[in-house]
Amino acid sequence: MSIRDTMNPVARRLPLAGGRPAAGATASGVQDRFGRTINYLRVSLTDMCNLRCVYCMPADMKFRPPAELMQDAELLRLIELFGALGFRKIRYTGGEPTLRDNLPGLVCRVAQFPGIEAQAMTTNGLLLDQLAAPLKEAGLQRVNISIDSLDPQKFRRMTRWGNLRDVLAGIQAAERVGFEIKLNAVVVRGFNDQADAVELARLTREHDWQVRYIEIMPFGGIHEFQRGHIVSEDELRATIGSALGPLELQDDGKLDGEARIFRLRGARGTLGFISSVTKPFCAGCNRARLTADGKLRLCLLRDKEVDLLTPLRAGAAAPDLEALIRANIWDKPWGHGLEQNQFATNRTMSEIGG
Ligand code: SAM
Ligand code: SF4
Repeated sequence: MSIRDTMNPVARRLPLAGGRPAAGATASGVQDRFGRTINYLRVSLTDMCNLRCVYCMPADMKFRPPAELMQDAELLRLIELFGALGFRKIRYTGGEPTLRDNLPGLVCRVAQFPGIEAQAMTTNGLLLDQLAAPLKEAGLQRVNISIDSLDPQKFRRMTRWGNLRDVLAGIQAAERVGFEIKLNAVVVRGFNDQADAVELARLTREHDWQVRYIEIMPFGGIHEFQRGHIVSEDELRATIGSALGPLELQDDGKLDGEARIFRLRGARGTLGFISSVTKPFCAGCNRARLTADGKLRLCLLRDKEVDLLTPLRAGAAAPDLEALIRANIWDKPWGHGLEQNQFATNRTMSEIGG
């Protein structure tokens, strides 16, 4: 069976890719059947992590053998293909992306690919103290650093063994070398939904940072825990507002990526709310995901994936790989099914990258 046989009828009528940009791709991305333009790729560099956050993975998480993961040359080849298809922004994630060997070298190579305009990374920050400078020099433009609490004990409870001091050192290093700072906090009922969330928001009074609160999303194996610990954006805003005063909506509520932005009166920084569960933003989704084992994942919260690494290793030509990507993006699911109690079951969050 050829790759063309696996395509839906509409995609099959499109010519196979040949030049740059690839056929069927617009200069700014690939269309799906709902008219969305997909031009943002989140790339998981490894499924491994140096933490075990309670909302992300089970304590006894098993990682994939290295042979199953994309090697540097494979990863670079696929990112280059996505660039040719009109993808403009890459975000590195994991697992923990800073565990990937030679990360600055990879970033430096990707910076040279035609079409790729922005490279960003989401990290737990533990290794940023050492890596912030080389990554900035290599061409990384933005970092989001995950930090769920400013209380060392609570931070340890949420990450199962993390040391808050390491993350704070990472944030300082990122700021020192000139990265714009965004902090991510997953809000978990009974863990960090009260004083911790408020203290994180307070940081924005003095710092020109964005603190982003993420509603916990349920996945497969640990979805019972995750579902039982969701805190809605509305509830969280009320908690922060009653402690620190009114939150003023910014940009008329226009989303910054997936976050709705607010500001405490007089604050230098902003607060972002990523409310995938209670206020889904699927209509504006522009993302696709590449897992560390080379699967193209079409929606974070749906199991649907297509294997790119196996055809790549079997010697598939660029136009065939591009056609495979294009055809599957065309069929990207509309959105998640959390309201219908449908969960993604085939991976934990750490195996996709958020
Ligand atoms: N290890 C890196 C980190 O923690 O920033 C990158 C990978 S992590 C999977 C990416 C983002 O997903 C982090 O901001 C993390 O807090 C968030 N995350 C993990 N599990 C989640 C869940 N169940 N629901 C919502 N966000 C989650
Ligand atoms: Fe690791 Fe990030 Fe998941 Fe925490 S959220 S366990 S740091 S991958």
